[in-house]
Amino acid sequence: MHVHLREPGFEHKETIATGTAAAAAGGFTSVACMANTSPVIDTPEKIEQIYDIARETAETNVFPFGSITKNLAGDELTDMQGMRSAGAVGFSDDGVTVMNAALMRDALALSAELGFPIMVHCEEHNLNAGAVMNLGETSRKLGLIGSPNAAEDIIVARDIMLAEMTGGHLHVLHVSTAGAVELVRQGKHRGVHVTAEACPHHWILTDAEIEKQGTNAKMHPPLRTQTDIDAVIEGLRDGTIDAIATDHAPHAPQEKAQGMLEAPNGIIGLETCVPLVFTFLVEPGHLTAAEAIAKMTSIPANILGINRGTLSIGAAGDCDSN
Ligand SMILES: [Zn+2]
Ligand SMILES: [Zn+2]
Repeated sequence: MHVHLREPGFEHKETIATGTAAAAAGGFTSVACMANTSPVIDTPEKIEQIYDIARETAETNVFPFGSITKNLAGDELTDMQGMRSAGAVGFSDDGVTVMNAALMRDALALSAELGFPIMVHCEEHNLNAGAVMNLGETSRKLGLIGSPNAAEDIIVARDIMLAEMTGGHLHVLHVSTAGAVELVRQGKHRGVHVTAEACPHHWILTDAEIEKQGTNAKMHPPLRTQTDIDAVIEGLRDGTIDAIATDHAPHAPQEKAQGMLEAPNGIIGLETCVPLVFTFLVEPGHLTAAEAIAKMTSIPANILGINRGTLSIGAAGDCDSN
């Protein structure tokens, strides 16, 4: 339910053809792709373009998200209703946070009215300014600027409050902190329409990985601590975190070969997700196989309002690409 296919604009990193080939190799028959391409997917025409390219080149079904704000600039809402009609399955400025709370309120109010999810990347920009990893023992040891858990928690708290105020559907992307898990849990208990996902790297790896893997372990939100991993796994276990996503975010090797300050954020994940789910969640007994599969199939499809991801009578089969 959350991948970056990089086309149009960044074809040196990935294309819809190569990204969906990775998805198919990893066992996924449908992917939902983010809007932070160049140009940004922020008009109904651009949604149609993604469907057009996918029809020609994709090896799986592709469902595009539109952006919440024009050009991801954070200052003006897009034509979400028009993009919805063109086939957008939700809206996200993923990669950046919409820092203007009034705009987020308006986006969530439209979500309440029209029934689509607003998918949020939660990092307070001022608190994570210049950060290349998690703030903690390792960042201090390496002398690198770190982003505190509070940068994520503050925006998760804000957006849950705005979802509560408007009745909109908030989906929290890539939950990485213990605090965010608890905020989503409390929101759900209060009846807020909030859903959440977590990615394999955030429930397997800690920020100590930066010392071993360098820029390959550089991503936003960053790898955190064992305490956070334990909380995210508990969230997956008790249903606070509804879905498992990859946040598949490829870059060219020469881009990742730059230093920690210059290299872009992101890690790939489509080909490794299913085995990691089985090794790290099912085998240790955190989830049953059926629960784990639901978090990658029927639950994400349900969050996005897509009639897929189940084998029930009347549901679309994923073996065709219609
Ligand atoms: Zn993100
Ligand atoms: Zn992403």
